[in-house]
Amino acid sequence: MPDNLEKFRCLKRSVAKINLDPLQRGGLLTPEAREALVEWGDGYSVCDFCGGEMDRIRNPPIEEFVHQALPEFLKIDQVRITHGAREGMYAAMNSMCDRGDYVVVDGNSHYTTILAAERAGLSIEFVPSSGQPEYIISPDGYAEAIEKINDMGGRVSMAVLTYPDGNYGNLVDARKVSDICHQEGVPLMVNGAYSVGRMPVSARDLGADVLVGSGHKSMASSGPIGVLGVCEEYAGLIFRRSKMKKNKDVELLGCTVRGAGILTMMASFSHVVERVARWQEEVEKARWLSARLEELGMVQQGERPHRHDLMFFVSDRLYEISNQAKKGRYFLYRDLKDRGICGIKAGLTRQFKLSTYQLTWEELETVAAAFADIMAAYPATVADETS
Ligand SMILES: *Cc1c(COP(=O)(O)O)cnc(C)c1O
Repeated sequence: MPDNLEKFRCLKRSVAKINLDPLQRGGLLTPEAREALVEWGDGYSVCDFCGGEMDRIRNPPIEEFVHQALPEFLKIDQVRITHGAREGMYAAMNSMCDRGDYVVVDGNSHYTTILAAERAGLSIEFVPSSGQPEYIISPDGYAEAIEKINDMGGRVSMAVLTYPDGNYGNLVDARKVSDICHQEGVPLMVNGAYSVGRMPVSARDLGADVLVGSGHKSMASSGPIGVLGVCEEYAGLIFRRSKMKKNKDVELLGCTVRGAGILTMMASFSHVVERVARWQEEVEKARWLSARLEELGMVQQGERPHRHDLMFFVSDRLYEISNQAKKGRYFLYRDLKDRGICGIKAGLTRQFKLSTYQLTWEELETVAAAFADIMAAYPATVADETS
């Protein structure tokens, strides 16, 4: 044990005023959620009036939230709270698939999809993307992947679509994917970690049998927390009860988020509903900043025109500067931080992700100006600095 434990007691967090990290933009708490976090911060705070089922707690009104508000919001039959998108994906895979089965997964999927499948004992067949610069996933790729496994004598028991993916922010036509999968008798799980709570998402319209979301990523919640929506056909399977502990869901180990997290999600919910309705403006913001950065020579990867706030840029020029700047590749992080901006990973210059979600137009102007300013601050032609 370290001899000085004081250092664990007073923990401050240092972030710039404008945080462009895609991970952070949708998880910023509302003032109401921040208050709830303090009010409900004690351990098992929600359990005072629980009769044994977390999702049936009436005070605070978790039952109405989980069984009415969320199913209506996601347009799906049943919803439960999880610890995050990954836990939702794992719960669905573990219940709906048998060990040795295959899941067909888009090539842009998040690492947690892979781990969920691995933990559930499943093999993965990928639907490849078109590669750079757009990284498009074709819905027809799902038919090909399913056929390939069928021909090999394997069993595909689920398909997964990342909507959008967490690298390029591409939105695949989920309805097409779902139609293709359903024709083959394969249920579709949509991973909405970057969509549920940011943009309108209807499981019914997408044709999703299962829909997962991430509270701390996209629902203005203090995590870890997520949502797992399931259509009636699979709800009995995923939300099956214990044989020995009659009122407990086995797959969820009884209760999931049993403290402040669920309260923050509820406290932010009216704001989330409202911001989702203003999605089109968020798309405009993303396109606006993308255009400004491209004027500076950066190249946005992924779909064009872009339809999501998460964007991936490649910049040869910033990379070039990193070879001559003091602090080398950390110059961009430092120079942005000096201008009140953070969220691009320290050390990245040649390619990086950022998000414009919920930034004001004024803040977007600040970001665009900062990049222009930084790029102008270094000489245009690189002198050979090897001497
Ligand atoms: C962030 C992310 C996840 C993981 O979300 P958690 O809620 O932290 O489990 C899964 N999928 C995608 C596409 C993500 O971007």
